[in-house]
Amino acid sequence: MKTVYFDNNATTKVAEEVLEEITPLFCDLYGNPSSMHTFGGQIARRIRKAREQAAALIGCDPAEIIFTSGGTESDNAAIQGALAASPNKRKVITTRVEHPAVLTDCRQLENHGYTVVELAVDKEGRLDLAELEEKLDDDTALVTIMYANNETGVIFPIDKIADLVTGRGVSFHTDAVQVVGKIPLNLANSSIDMLSLSGHKLHAPKGVGVLYIRKGTRFSPFMVGGHQEAGKRAGTENIPGIVGLGKACELAAENIEEENNKVRRLRDKLENAILESCPDSRLNGDKENRLPNTTNISFEYIEGEAILLMLDKYGICASSGSACTSGSLEPSHVLRAMGVPFTAAHGSIRFSLSRYNTEEEVDYTVEKTPPIINKLRRLSPFVGK
Ligand code: PLP
Repeated sequence: MKTVYFDNNATTKVAEEVLEEITPLFCDLYGNPSSMHTFGGQIARRIRKAREQAAALIGCDPAEIIFTSGGTESDNAAIQGALAASPNKRKVITTRVEHPAVLTDCRQLENHGYTVVELAVDKEGRLDLAELEEKLDDDTALVTIMYANNETGVIFPIDKIADLVTGRGVSFHTDAVQVVGKIPLNLANSSIDMLSLSGHKLHAPKGVGVLYIRKGTRFSPFMVGGHQEAGKRAGTENIPGIVGLGKACELAAENIEEENNKVRRLRDKLENAILESCPDSRLNGDKENRLPNTTNISFEYIEGEAILLMLDKYGICASSGSACTSGSLEPSHVLRAMGVPFTAAHGSIRFSLSRYNTEEEVDYTVEKTPPIINKLRRLSPFVGK
């Protein structure tokens, strides 16, 4: 059976060009870049190149790129690093719709005497900047707000937010894990202080990421030990991961506009066809300010998990907005924050595309989905009640 992979916000396929570039680094060029000998030392050149490739994609100076183990570490390092550097300030502002890599870290801060403000979103998943402005004060050490939402694809006006926050002398971090490689960025022209990205969301291997730290940003290292990464992130470097991430950044930078257009067209075709052919379906999130690859659709009165299992029978991979945890089906915190009704939040499905998806895969999914929805509706105890 063929696999139709529409779960690229969860993870992506490693690009063939990336795999080719990193393969020699396992058994042939396996030295430690910190070694004195040539065999190890030559690897430092590879890291330098990857740093330049990553910097070129996001429009910053290579010295502002810190390699990490992924999005989660970058988010945690940004939050902890900013707070440790401003020990007298005790307030952090974030949003209700962040990824757990940010939200869990922030919520734990409450146990350590911090005040954590979680900004609300409206029913389209948009922030109210007036609320942010009102909550900013002299005790605020950090504002951390995601660039785009992983579940709905909704994009926040991050440059505007960064100007507002840094204009008040407060550090600003953004989790751009779902954005880098999908939307062109130019950090040299923005006032973002720190930005997280993750390799496995843009066709690099898992377990590598970047924390961008603008020169002059208050930051105290989260991982301490050796002198790697200019003393900002200790630990022997994940060389294949870093080199692979560099190559993936180069590939993304080369084709970003063209791929955006292709992916958006396929996503729109899939979304429009499903919304038209499935009664009681609705789009979640701001239709306009959205990542080009993501659509989040609710099918009223049925369970997302049941839809996923039936799609899976046809080899179609998507994801659902509810997490089945410890026997209770909790709808997604993002959809709940948007006020999506219970009956719709439970039946939400996210399709997330990549440059590797084809028209044929979209047509196949458009053909298979409506009968699945109709079948589950007939079985639903909620329909007509
Ligand atoms: N932030 C966002 C918005 C994400 O979507 C993810 C992964 O799904 C992460 C952070 C975590 O990244 P990683 O899996 O590299 O730790």
